[in-house]
Amino acid sequence: MPGSNAEWVAVAQHVILPNYRPPPFVLTRGEGCRVWDVEGREFLDFSGGIAVLALGHAHPLLARRIAEQAARLVHVSNLFYNDRAIALAAAIAERTPFDRVYFANSGTEANEALLKLARRYHHDRGDRERVHFVAAEGSFHGRTMGALSLTGQPKYHVGMEPLVGGVQHVPYNDLAAAEAAVDERTAAVFLEVVQGEGGLVVGDAAYLEGVRRLCDQKGALLFFDEVQTGYGRTGTFLAREVSGVVPDACSLAKGMGGGFPIGAIAVTEKLAGGLPPGSHASTFGGNPLACAAGLAVLEAFDEENLIERGRAAGEVLGRALGKLASDPALPAAVELRGRGLLRGIRLAAGVDPRNTLAQLRDAGLLATIAGGTVIRFAPPLNVSEADIELGVERFHTVLKSIA
Ligand SMILES: *Cc1c(COP(=O)(O)O)cnc(C)c1O
Repeated sequence: MPGSNAEWVAVAQHVILPNYRPPPFVLTRGEGCRVWDVEGREFLDFSGGIAVLALGHAHPLLARRIAEQAARLVHVSNLFYNDRAIALAAAIAERTPFDRVYFANSGTEANEALLKLARRYHHDRGDRERVHFVAAEGSFHGRTMGALSLTGQPKYHVGMEPLVGGVQHVPYNDLAAAEAAVDERTAAVFLEVVQGEGGLVVGDAAYLEGVRRLCDQKGALLFFDEVQTGYGRTGTFLAREVSGVVPDACSLAKGMGGGFPIGAIAVTEKLAGGLPPGSHASTFGGNPLACAAGLAVLEAFDEENLIERGRAAGEVLGRALGKLASDPALPAAVELRGRGLLRGIRLAAGVDPRNTLAQLRDAGLLATIAGGTVIRFAPPLNVSEADIELGVERFHTVLKSIA
């Protein structure tokens, strides 16, 4: 096997399908907020694996629990109960207003399960006309055909049509638009509490409450996609807690396994029969290894008080980024976005976000782009104040150079 970044990348360019556009270095190791490439170069990682790494890289407890489970029981399929899946479902039910859990392997799969559950739920109640969905413009719900059809960003639809039918997109945070769209044929409304990929747009509490009332009036289900916002990312275990609105179900994934692939839907008892035996399944879903990782994440949350710490760190990050956004000496940074440790800054029109990201990498900081114009930071919930300062300082330096 090759040694240098350039040698690895040369192999990658022959064997990896080029549906991504990664920078020309190859990561091989991580610890906490830091990752290293194959040549030993260190980066401060505020990309967080796209808001996945709730515990950071190589968290000792997560590593230990995965290793222990790997030596005990990795997989049995959905034909059998396993103790880890039962324990994780119970732990999620205990921490949320939801009662029952179905395990998938990713966020998009979790949303597919919700789409199917909504149609099947109404179908089995004799409401056969209720097959439509309402979702928001700017939303992101995943890349498989169903979840893609829900996703309210046309750029993801290019060349993929025909999409799954019956989906209507309405402007986000616009209750009147939702009222005009939801009717007696609406099976479910899907919303993110904070739009992640759409650019860290925070949902108004009044909007979320209004849509809840609307769904109740019209007999439609309300689903929150908490794939990105859940698991402490926005300062509470679920982002819904800020508004107090209880949807009929939510989807979860990113933070759930601390980097181990796992997703889930959590539903209220009303939907307990929504996916009767035979209606939906996943071979890997709920496998004991993934669920052990999920349990380890919750164990670390409790042992290290990570929801509280993440909320406090989010305040620190928000204040520091807010200063950059309001600094007249930094015209490239125009607006603070997001909540908790899902924060970003919208760049001025004319500033190239990809270039900015590349400059940040050169300065030793990894971040991501959201909504086309927002530089997004999603460090682990246990990020130190010193690392937040260091990351923001590197961002500051880059923004200054653009000005
Ligand atoms: C990332 C994301 C998804 C898709 O999750 P995958 O694990 O990539 O399939 C769905 N919804 C939201 C809100 C997301 O941020």
